Amino acid sequence: MKHILLIATGGTIACAKTQDGLAPALSPGQLLGRVPDARSFCQVDAVQPLNLDSTNINPSHWLLLAKLIEENYSRYDGFVLCHGTDTLAYSAAALSYLIQNTGKPIVLTGAQKPIDQEDTDARQNLLDSLRYACHQDSGVCIVFGSHVIAGTRAKKTRTKSYNAFSSINFPDIAEVRDRRVVRFIPWEHQGPPQFTHSLNTRVMVLKLTPGLPPEAFASAGALCDGLIIESYGVGGIPDTYLFQLDALARAGKTVVLATQVPQEGSDLSVYQVGQRVKERYRLLEPYDMTLESTVTKLMWVLGQTQDGEEIRRLFYTPVNYDLLF
Ligand code: ASP
Repeated sequence: MKHILLIATGGTIACAKTQDGLAPALSPGQLLGRVPDARSFCQVDAVQPLNLDSTNINPSHWLLLAKLIEENYSRYDGFVLCHGTDTLAYSAAALSYLIQNTGKPIVLTGAQKPIDQEDTDARQNLLDSLRYACHQDSGVCIVFGSHVIAGTRAKKTRTKSYNAFSSINFPDIAEVRDRRVVRFIPWEHQGPPQFTHSLNTRVMVLKLTPGLPPEAFASAGALCDGLIIESYGVGGIPDTYLFQLDALARAGKTVVLATQVPQEGSDLSVYQVGQRVKERYRLLEPYDMTLESTVTKLMWVLGQTQDGEEIRRLFYTPVNYDLLF
């Protein structure tokens, strides 16, 4: 029988009603008590390093979770993390960079309704996740609403429905149907897992809106080493901000020109407003990567190196299906 470590971190799945609204309350033992069927196919140990609404999750928690998995890696066949849905896609992407090439499944899940509610999706999601963690296919992924999504490709696209997550610019990697895992994308696993232990959290996103004050660039630049500008369509920079880009380049900031359109990604080569800045400032672009992956990958890359060429190389090296270009 497979041996799984359940890592509970809070979120709606573990929430109970309070006078001020839902708040995480249940212990991992209580969560497991709601899915007794799991006992028939796996043996589960459980820990609870955090008990947070995932609104409160930050990069220090990603490092803590990665370390916990590293310390327990040899003892278990797979890992299931229960996590709030609001920042789950960021955590899944961050863990995809911090734990690369994992030959053991690392599954993140959550729910739209607390596990004790009658019409909850939590019991199914938890059971599906434990089942998937027992499967031989590996990597960091999200199991939610019977979809299995690569950890770098998920986005929360619905705030209330049970199918809260979509796989962006990439197919689901598998599905849990009844009690079986149907895999669509083969897992390519080469060599031992690689754990990294640092992130540069000085990464920010600046979303362009028509008329955004130019001073926003200098303010954001002062607070970060890596700036992701979420521009429009396939990507471009309005004429009024070119001076601001000059200043960011002179200050040695790493600038990524992304798109705020969720599907199909960037291509700065298409329009003059994109091409002229990409060449002049050696901007990076995410192509088909999600914003969640772009943010966490940049934190991971800038945590490894400050060398411009190495930053480019690492940023454009695909990890856990994040980039197809
Ligand atoms: N606010 C909750 C959280 O992210 C929402 C959820 O879990 O669905 O922790």
